[in-house]
Amino acid sequence: MGELRDFVAEVLERRGAAVEAVEPDGLEVLAPKPVRDSMGWPELALLGFGAQRPANAIPIGLEGDWLDRFGTLLGDHGRWSERQLTPPGRAVAPGDPQRMLDHALDLPNAVWRFHGMTATVTRCLMLAFHYTALSDEKREGLIWLGFNLGTGAIIDDIATRLRRLLAQETDWQAPEPDARAAAGPGWSGEVLAARLRPLLDLRVRQELEPFLRAMRRRLERDRNRVHGYHDDLRRSSLNRLAALAGAAGEKAESDRRRETMRVAAIEREYGAKLDDLRRNYALRVTVEWMQALELYVPVQRFDVLIRRRKGERLIRLDWHPLVRLIEPPPCEAGLGLDRVRFVCDDKLHLTVPAGQAPCPSCGKAFCRACHPAACPRCGAAVTGADAALN
Ligand SMILES: [Zn+2]
Ligand SMILES: [Zn+2]
Repeated sequence: MGELRDFVAEVLERRGAAVEAVEPDGLEVLAPKPVRDSMGWPELALLGFGAQRPANAIPIGLEGDWLDRFGTLLGDHGRWSERQLTPPGRAVAPGDPQRMLDHALDLPNAVWRFHGMTATVTRCLMLAFHYTALSDEKREGLIWLGFNLGTGAIIDDIATRLRRLLAQETDWQAPEPDARAAAGPGWSGEVLAARLRPLLDLRVRQELEPFLRAMRRRLERDRNRVHGYHDDLRRSSLNRLAALAGAAGEKAESDRRRETMRVAAIEREYGAKLDDLRRNYALRVTVEWMQALELYVPVQRFDVLIRRRKGERLIRLDWHPLVRLIEPPPCEAGLGLDRVRFVCDDKLHLTVPAGQAPCPSCGKAFCRACHPAACPRCGAAVTGADAALN
């Protein structure tokens, strides 16, 4: 419980409380009135965090609504922050840039050449989202996304490692003016929204995949059970009806009527049970932005010359010395989470393979970065899945 106690102590101190640690695993808190009122504490409160806590302590834990109450105390503080990470001696250059690029670039229809490398600073944006999926069961979690605003690359992997480094860094270094100038401007809200939406959508789907699979299995099982039960009832009624087919007389007639009504009732009930299942398993997913961190880090920026037919073009990708990883190459249509890029004939755009694929309507291959909205030959609209992002 040490981390929770530290967190609570820090939040309370920031809100003007005097806090003192008492053992085992407790805090003595002298809080100003607004804090006391919102937490429902006396003027001098003793809080306990562990299984073993001081006598008479108010037990604080992850269960109950304590986190919500501390969240209210925090308000919007900590939603957005910026930080620089430049540990001394880490801004080295890679020994063999060519080999590094061999791993980073896979261009099946173009050639490339290493052109140069510059040490600079870039700004990485890391965003945390909280998702909740609710159907017959509930599943929630956090998703972190990372972008290099300097190159446009999606850097989830690198960002995860950078966050791990941050956790070890006790000093909070604000970005220096030089670092800001070198990193250049950030993205507009529109650019960020356009880049964010498909990526977040994909990540939420990936996170929820096992949950959805298990849910579908339960639904299938319930549906089979409901079907089996009603099917048996209906079948025996139909059998009785068949047995009555040849019989004459008033009794047989009334038996037939009764069985026919029974069959109708069973079918109605079956329909109602299916509706119940549908309601019970209806899925509702909500995704909420929690936190943003803009992190200024040193990078080695690679200039790479791309050649396709008679055209050539310079692209950039960053190598991150802090985690010794290179980013995926830029991608101008499609998410581009792996390193395969096709290069277009006209403007040498880099896209995912599907970004140069034939039009599903007329069969003409075209570049989704050149023509983000529709096929240039037949005008068929480009669908969401392979739409351009930049
Ligand atoms: Zn193009
Ligand atoms: Zn077409």
